[in-house]
Amino acid sequence: MKYIFVTGGVVSSLGKGLTAAALGTLLENRGLKVCLQKFDPYLNVDPGTMNPYQHGEVYVLDDGTETDLDLGHYERFTHVKLTRLNNLTSGRVYLNVLERERRGGYLGKTVQVIPHITDEIQDRIREVAEVSKADVLITEIGGTTGDIEGLPFLEAIREFALEQGPANAIFLHVTLVPFIRAAGELKTKPTQQSVAKLREIGITPHILVCRCDRPLSKEVRQKISLFCNVPYEAVIEERDVEHSIYEVPLMLQRERMDELVCRLLQLATPPADMSHWQDILRRLIAPQHRVRIGVVGKYIGLQDAYKSVYEALTHGGVANDCGVEIERLEAEQIEKEGPDRLLKGLGGILVPGGFGDRGIEGKIAAVRYAREHRIPFLGLCLGMQMATIEFGRHVLGLAGAHSTEFDKTTPHPVIALMEEQKGLTELGGTMRLGAQEVQLKVGSRAARLYGAFVVHERHRHRYEFNNAYRDRYEAAGFLITGTSHHGELVELIELADHPFFVACQFHPEFQSKPDAAHPLFRGFIAAARQYQSGRGP
Ligand code: GLN
Repeated sequence: MKYIFVTGGVVSSLGKGLTAAALGTLLENRGLKVCLQKFDPYLNVDPGTMNPYQHGEVYVLDDGTETDLDLGHYERFTHVKLTRLNNLTSGRVYLNVLERERRGGYLGKTVQVIPHITDEIQDRIREVAEVSKADVLITEIGGTTGDIEGLPFLEAIREFALEQGPANAIFLHVTLVPFIRAAGELKTKPTQQSVAKLREIGITPHILVCRCDRPLSKEVRQKISLFCNVPYEAVIEERDVEHSIYEVPLMLQRERMDELVCRLLQLATPPADMSHWQDILRRLIAPQHRVRIGVVGKYIGLQDAYKSVYEALTHGGVANDCGVEIERLEAEQIEKEGPDRLLKGLGGILVPGGFGDRGIEGKIAAVRYAREHRIPFLGLCLGMQMATIEFGRHVLGLAGAHSTEFDKTTPHPVIALMEEQKGLTELGGTMRLGAQEVQLKVGSRAARLYGAFVVHERHRHRYEFNNAYRDRYEAAGFLITGTSHHGELVELIELADHPFFVACQFHPEFQSKPDAAHPLFRGFIAAARQYQSGRGP
């Protein structure tokens, strides 16, 4: 087993997760079995209850774990299937240690950060190594070197790497090399300082990945090499991507990073064959067609709040040789000025998942616009609930139809709390979570798109379609074409009389990949492309 530890310096948001994931791609394409894992130094037990404003999207795994969005990159860039073991926060570490202490598990010893917290962290590295049976485990440490709460993690990996020996464990440090306009040059001092900080802790990086907005000159590379004590070829340039994050693996390959990693870890492998990845990129950069898709949400101003949705749309584009231009639309704006100006001319409309009542009426208005103007529509989770309310109010004439999440006294609770959710008071990890079986109706659009009748999709919700209304909806052409295992929960709906109107209670965006777009996104973009080219479906 070989270990790569990825740390970050100078500032956050350098794309450590992306770098780790891209390295994973390269190593996989060298024939190695790779696993990835993320350590997050904050004290929340998991990111499930964190505000998207601070933390971006909550990414859900098959086993229902609510995790950091970097795990989304890991799953999209490699073939790993992650579980609750692959994301560890300080909160979880401390909770485990304190619970053991309460049970008397430390036999009266003084419980300390070193060795008890650090041991707990190392145990997790070993556990993931063992369970994954991978050749290489890449562990990313969240946060920035120098953060107080990150120290136990750094100490833990320092000790761990020492134990493994230099041919089995290496450190890769992602750092910023900023361009200072007044001086007209790239500056290496922040990198020097962040490496100095790491070395103070006892970690000497083997590889420096330099994030920059222009090429590193030979002189800059030499300077970094000399002052940071890494060989010249271990100074890796990772420039801001021009078109797409899927450029990163190719960029790192050009810098021979995977070659270096394999040499350091004494892994004899052939070079990575990245031809399929190059093909993906060609379709991204120079597609045959183009569509504009409107995403109507609540956290639209945030780069990361709908990360997987945006990625899955891009994948749908790759599958259709179609560039996807995403129009991010604030649901509240639609409430203010009506849907016409904002939604006109779009090739497709998507309403993603969400919580809380801000912007709800704007989302309903967007669904109505898509239904009435016969614009391809995809609704995800809350988006399916909005489609249900819209159809109830405007087609079935159920005045005041709503979800009990937003209106407790609605005369028509077409979306209501699931039985198993009643009486729950704890917030973290208590929704209907993770992969569940979905059965698709024979002859439905969904079954055609999937090419299957039984699929597994990831969930994260408390409310559901109210079965008391099922017959009325179906009779009016609101077809329930996907249900849970026993047919009880509505999982997927489509409109009979519409070119493409599909909505699901689950989150297909979590299982889409650049080279294997999720079927619903593939179908949605295909429909949008047809619609926008004026040919109609
Ligand atoms: N708020 C809705 C529910 O809990 C939808 C959740 C979501 O979109 N993830 O059911």
